[in-house]
Parts: sequence; C-alpha cells; structure tokens
Amino acid sequence: MSTVMSVDEACAAAEAAQQWYADTDLQTRASLLEAIADAVDAARDDLVPIAVEESRLGIERLTGEVGRTTGQLRLMAQVVRDGAFLGVVLDKALPDATPPRPDLRRMNVPLGPVAVFAASNFPFAFSTLGGDTAAALAAGCTVVVKPNPGHPRLSDAIMAVAQQALADVGAPRGVLTMVSHGLQDGIDLVTDDRIEAVAFTGSQRGGLALAKLAADRPRPIPFYGELGSINPIFVTPEAAAERGASIAEGWVGSFTLGAGQFCTKPGLLVAPRDEAMRSAAVAAVGGVPAQGMLTQPIRDAFLHGVSERIDMASIDVLSGGGWDAETDTVHATLLAVPASEVIATPELLEECFGPMSLLVEYDDPKQMLALADVLPGLLAAGIHGNADEPIVDELMPRLVARAGRVLWNGWPTGVAVTWSMQHGGPFPATTAPATTSVGASAVDRFLRPVTWQGMPQAVLPVPLRDGNPWGIPRRVDGVLDPG
Ligand code: NAP
Repeated sequence: MSTVMSVDEACAAAEAAQQWYADTDLQTRASLLEAIADAVDAARDDLVPIAVEESRLGIERLTGEVGRTTGQLRLMAQVVRDGAFLGVVLDKALPDATPPRPDLRRMNVPLGPVAVFAASNFPFAFSTLGGDTAAALAAGCTVVVKPNPGHPRLSDAIMAVAQQALADVGAPRGVLTMVSHGLQDGIDLVTDDRIEAVAFTGSQRGGLALAKLAADRPRPIPFYGELGSINPIFVTPEAAAERGASIAEGWVGSFTLGAGQFCTKPGLLVAPRDEAMRSAAVAAVGGVPAQGMLTQPIRDAFLHGVSERIDMASIDVLSGGGWDAETDTVHATLLAVPASEVIATPELLEECFGPMSLLVEYDDPKQMLALADVLPGLLAAGIHGNADEPIVDELMPRLVARAGRVLWNGWPTGVAVTWSMQHGGPFPATTAPATTSVGASAVDRFLRPVTWQGMPQAVLPVPLRDGNPWGIPRRVDGVLDPG
C-alpha cells in the first residue's frame, strides 16, 4: 500500500489526530519517537540500497546517515522526557499586593499540524523522518511530509516503516502522513488552513516562494526555512605561515565532501596570498575523484554557477572541474580571487551548491575585516588562527554578528546533533534566525506559550499543577525547581 495521501486526506487526518497526540504524556510521546527510531534501524539494510540508487551518495555515507537520523529521533525522545522544553513557569497569587496579582501559570503547547518539506541532500537525516519531523513530533505536533522528488522510493519505504511502528504502538494514522512530491501538493499544503507551521530545507528560491505563501494566507503561519550559506573560513597570517598546506588540504576535504552538497560547505577560504597554500590546494583537488550529484537540476545549477564565476575577469581558475557526460560525474572546481574583488562583487558571496570553493586572497589582514563586514547571514563561519593574534579579537565579533555557529581551527561540514547545537543564522541562511533546525532546541519552533490565569487545579494541565506531578524542571516564583 502506498503511503501517499492527497493533501486534503493528509490534512484531515493530521487535524483529527492532533488533540490525541498533544494530550500524550511525556513517556508515551518519547516511546513513540523511539519506536520509529528502532523500526528504522531494523530496516536499515533494506532502506540504504534504495537511497544509494536514488541519491548516488554511497553506501558508507548513507549507512552512517541512518544512525544520525535514528540518533536524532532518540535525542528528541530525551528532550521530551526531560520536560524542560515545556517551559513551565509558575507565579503564585499575591492577593495583598498592589495591584493584587492573580495565580499565573505558563507552559508551551504544540502549534498543531506541521508541514515538513524534505531536503534532497540528506535522504535520511533532513528528509522524511529527518530533524524537522523529529522536532515537530517531539513538540506534540502531527506532521504532514512533503517528500523530496530526489528520492521518492526511499520516502515511500521509510514512511511505511514509520507508519507501521506508530500503528504498532496504537497511534492514529494522522500522527505522521505524507503527500505526493511535485510543486502543487507543496503549495496546497502550505495554504491549507489546517496546517499551523512549515519547516523547509532547500533552495532560497523555493524557500522564499513557500514563505510568501505562508505569509499571504488569510491566517498567516510561521515558516522555518533553512536556505543555505557560504560558510567562510578565515585564515590568519600566523596560521597560514605555520600550517598553510594542511589547512588547504582540510579545506578541500571539507568542500568536496558529499560532492559539496552540504549547506555547511565552506564556500570561501579567506587566506593570505601564498603560493604554498595555492599549490597544496590544487594538489588536494587533483586527488578528489569525480562524483555524481543528487539530481540533474542540482547538477545543472552547479555547472551553471561554476561557469558564471569562471567567466568573471577577476577569477583565477586553479582547477577547472567540469562534467564527464559518460559517467555523469563532476570534478571539483577551485577558483582564486583577490579579497578586494569579493568585497566589490556581491554575486561572489552567493552559494554555489556543489564541489566548488573560492580561495579569497588578501594582501593586508585588515581586508578580512572589510570582507566580514559585507558577508550575508551564515549558518557557520570560522577562523584558523592562534588565539593571541590581535586580528582574531576584531574578526570574531563580526562573525558572531552574522553566523549561527562560529568555529575555531575546524571545518563547518559535520553538524553534531546535540543539546547545544545551533544550525541557523540570519537571512539568507534561514528565514527565522532565532531558531535552529538541528539539536535539542529545534523543538522550540513548533511550540507556543500559553498562560493560565486564576485556574482551578482540576482544570489546569497536569504539568502546571501544584506538587509538580510530572517531576519536570519548573520556575516557581522566580526560583528554578529542577524537578
Ligand atoms: P528545492 O528546489 O528548493 O526544492 C525543495 C522542495 O521545495 C521540493 O519539495 C520542491 O517541490 C519544493 N519547491 C521548490 N520550489 C517551490 C515553489 N516555487 N513552490 C512550491 N514548492 C517548491 O531544493 P532541491 O531540489 O533539493 O535542490 C535545489 C537547490 O536547493 C540546490 O541546488 C541547492 O542550491 C539548494 N539546496 C539547499 C539545501 C540546504 O541545506 N539549504 C539543501 C538542498 C538543496 P518539488 O517536489 O516540486 O520539487
């Protein structure tokens, strides 16, 4: 049986299941997330070959990604059991105060059915059962998935596994449903009045079109779009002098990983003009095998982006890349450009999705500051340097002002799924810079706070009642009760 429903059927089912699901206690909801994770782990050997065929990403990478995906679901189960995400705050009544204060109790509640647009570049971890789905389910929201057209068979197979796991624990079908891929179902989903929020990972163009639809509805809803980023890495003069060749090799490894199809790919390496770094980077690119890309449109967009840049007068082509028609694979492209040109050419600060990166060369370290001042919003940015270099103190606040994650002597690819992770950033990295799409805090996007005023105990939700019946962390009269 296909897992695909019409938009109307899926939204009706999601709406019908919403109250049941929102009312689940923390233990039930966490167990449900774990049941999905266990079922996906058990089906791994059936799912991975489909993903390999559809995405060309390779068995090792995709097997690892299943672990990341089920780990994500289990982290969300932990978040649910912990209970702090409910944000419970109690202020006892002060009838003798001037003016008198009523009893006030605040808690987060689920937004309601969420539409999740699956991404192409992580067929497991950012797709049908990826981070957005896990976070929305953790919040107590039913989910309608809009699958990505890049892996339709995998979407169907993994959804069948999850739906069976949910049925086995007695959950109604509407807790997790899926519509068809194709533009129209996505549009109909975002504009359906039963949907209360949208989570999206993909292109800036697609994300903005859908964000506009969400905002233009008679009843606008939140839209959480993760749209990509250039993730510049800055190399100080001391770091380049001490370890320039190894930095260049690390950079090439990072921007060619997964054929450069990561939103965290370092699209710019900003470094002093240095022949040794150039040659180390060129040698490293020479050792990278040609790779297949996710879909034909993504490949074509990549080749177009490369040729646009190569045609610019200021660009020095260090390694031309190109497409091999016989194997339908692409070679990595390495370009160099003076820092002054990048500052004057905003097009060079746009993302080019795929195995391509720019070596931005400066003559004066102060040019790093001028460049940092014109950067767009970023998911990540970093410095390779030594902590006592004065330029670091000037550069760091500029990166913090623009990026959701700032890293030191490392590479932005590889986003740990943890309690402290921030995967977000100012536009154009995302449409909602105060939020994250990876890590424990991702749950917050699908919640909204409500205050109960002067309410009898029997009418209050259980987590707000006297005596902390669920034993969760709560702030009572300004003092933290760890539960
Ligand atoms: P995409 O084109 O943005 O598509 C993602 C999803 O959005 C698909 O389900 C697509 O529907 C839907 N969509 C796109 N435009 C729409 C519109 N105008 N109206 C309604 N729905 C729309 O992303 P992609 O196909 O995965 O990759 C294309 C480009 O996106 C890449 O080259 C890259 O630049 C970027 N990308 C970014 C990230 C990231 O992490 N931020 C990840 C992957 C890709 P359909 O089913 O009709 O296609």
